[in-house]
Amino acid sequence: MSLIPYEVLEKLSWDEAYDAIVEVRRRSIGDVFREVKRVLCIQPHPDDTDIAAGGTIAWMRDNGVEVSYVTMTDGCMGTSDPTLYPEKLAEVRRGEQEEAARILGVDKLIWLDYRDSEFRVCSEARSRLISIIRRFKPDMVITVDPWLPYEAHPDHTATGILAAEASMFSSLVHVNPQDLRDGLTPHRVRFIAFYWSRKPNTFIDVTRYVEVKFKAISAHRSQFPGESIDRFLEVIKAYMKLMGKRIGVDYAEPFKVLPIGSLHCDIFAEDI
Ligand SMILES: [Zn+2]
Repeated sequence: MSLIPYEVLEKLSWDEAYDAIVEVRRRSIGDVFREVKRVLCIQPHPDDTDIAAGGTIAWMRDNGVEVSYVTMTDGCMGTSDPTLYPEKLAEVRRGEQEEAARILGVDKLIWLDYRDSEFRVCSEARSRLISIIRRFKPDMVITVDPWLPYEAHPDHTATGILAAEASMFSSLVHVNPQDLRDGLTPHRVRFIAFYWSRKPNTFIDVTRYVEVKFKAISAHRSQFPGESIDRFLEVIKAYMKLMGKRIGVDYAEPFKVLPIGSLHCDIFAEDI
């Protein structure tokens, strides 16, 4: 498990050994964003991927990476306007996500339509995600980090956990046996990348893509009534500026990338 020869371990202190293992493991992740050919973004609501990773999506599309989105909920609760009914808002938000996807060049949008704010971890949703992964066959899944300390939104925690579970189980032949009867084959996802993570280990330079990202975010008009879009974009710009400092560029988007094997019994996963 350690990837460090046993003889070497015997000569190291705990701190040295731990750091050496983490370093080796971190290096094994490499430059995954440049290696992947197909990416599936599994998001809680319409807009999450665009806000957290829109620059990275635009950059990947420029480099020929195939990118699709799965949106778990219908987004029908995202308003403080009492005259905007949930069903209408869900329809509006779907249109906004379609427009943002066109701006970023996203290939395909898949909607699972669970009710906003009421989504929970369940095997039914996991099965649907496994089937989607087997159909789409991504090298990497991008999703929200469900282990962000103090994250209280159930749609976010449930989506992150189910995306991780589905990424892990999609290679197991006896999981979702109906998939095989439907002509789908098991698929091994190589990596998972979490955004809104407390422990990012990968930073993507999105300096050239700030403008297109902001255009995509601005397409989600229902989420930013009146002047609030300007304020929101300022906050996001400052966030990307801060992350850019980690790699010496103007603007960056951070991710916690893990090999799928690290999603189970990996005591180093937090520090990789
Ligand atoms: Zn969200």
